[in-house]
Amino acid sequence: MKALSKLKNEPGIWMVDVPMPEIGPDDVLVKVHKTGICGTDVHIYKWDEWAQQTVPWPMVTGHEYAGEIVELGQNVKDLKIGQRVSGEGHVVGHNSRASRAGKYHLDPDTKGIGVNLPGAFAEYVKIPAFNIVSLPDAVDDEIGAILDPLGNAVHTALAFDLVGEDVIITGAGPIGIMGAAVAKRAGARHVVITDLSDERLALAKQVAPEARAVNVGTENLRDAMKGLGMKEGFDVGLEMSGAPAALDQMLDHLVMGGKVALLGVPARPFVFDLSKVVFRMVTLKGIYGREMFETWHKMLGMLETGLDVRKVITHRMAAKDYAEAFKIAADGKSGKVVLDWGEAQ
Ligand code: ZN
Repeated sequence: MKALSKLKNEPGIWMVDVPMPEIGPDDVLVKVHKTGICGTDVHIYKWDEWAQQTVPWPMVTGHEYAGEIVELGQNVKDLKIGQRVSGEGHVVGHNSRASRAGKYHLDPDTKGIGVNLPGAFAEYVKIPAFNIVSLPDAVDDEIGAILDPLGNAVHTALAFDLVGEDVIITGAGPIGIMGAAVAKRAGARHVVITDLSDERLALAKQVAPEARAVNVGTENLRDAMKGLGMKEGFDVGLEMSGAPAALDQMLDHLVMGGKVALLGVPARPFVFDLSKVVFRMVTLKGIYGREMFETWHKMLGMLETGLDVRKVITHRMAAKDYAEAFKIAADGKSGKVVLDWGEAQ
């Protein structure tokens, strides 16, 4: 079968023929219909320090997918051939204290599909049946292919109660933008999303028109808050950029006792003024991945009842045009890039 593999110890990604995955008794084989290109995939494509230290090669990459089940392991009872599915990309162990308590997302032995297990940028992918999430009719394949990042957005946005609250989101990448739509859907009063890129903020306005997009390079955040009638500060911050300056600015514009969920990953360690957290009694919470499977449940429920993030998909391309697709994803200006594997050849 065709698959996109990290083949060599250098930047790039390559379409190659690899053997079909062989499933074990607790796995299913999924025929991949559509996949999303993630920031993680771009790190692997660029082969930065993190990728070199984390990803063994050769490795078929990709973990954002939708497809259909074409083969069931012998122990798999409650899934069906032909079922439309996506799934959690983190394959957890079942022996740790967290796992045995049902907190799978906190399992320290987690492995990543497309990172250290063969991935979904392929015509077929092997997935443990435990990880499979079946797709309701309301969720088509291209939305199914971006549930992983939408799940990051939902996990971050729902880290704290947003009903009636004023929310600031720093970083208007696809996850920040979807986070703005989710925050409004979850009942926030004002949602302000900040970035330094006008292109990304323009996309934010399309996907989440009820949110206020602010370019903090050219516009004063305090003025924007005044314009919304906000007197004090934001109740909740969702940090999606990993940029030290964004976190600093967020802390300066929070209410006393504000809460911050952190999803953005800083490129390197940085110095920051912890006294802002201490004296303002701010709660900081790190967010990674999705909760298995609460986030999936809430995300699908919101999609079935009207959450619409489709406009965050800015590029739909055939898998054979992967070189162009990765260039677009890597330049940091696009929304989600979705590949169609019906045309892998
Ligand atoms: Zn992803």
